[in-house]
Amino acid sequence: MRKFNKKLRDYWKFKARKKSLRKKYNNKCELCGSNILTTVHHKIPVRDIKILYQLNTYDKLKNCKLLWDINWLTLLCNKCHNEIDKACYTRITHEFHQEYALNFKK
Ligand SMILES: [Zn+2]
Repeated sequence: MRKFNKKLRDYWKFKARKKSLRKKYNNKCELCGSNILTTVHHKIPVRDIKILYQLNTYDKLKNCKLLWDINWLTLLCNKCHNEIDKACYTRITHEFHQEYALNFKK
């Protein structure tokens, strides 16, 4: 799975989204406003998307619409990204996704 993530980051769509997000957020972290090491963050963790939709090959993953939906992507600094990933990599339910989306701006 780890190699999927690397491959995904090299995919043109990922680079295009990154560019759009940097523009949208003025290259600042959506949560804290820092511009240190900003990266693309999937509001629904890629790991959860893979499991929920049973995307067991790179091609299936790459073609998943949710993965590229700009509404489900944001720009985070390195620090916020690490914190969020730690906090949300444990629960996998649709309710959780909803709750997560609603609470994201807090
Ligand atoms: Zn931040």
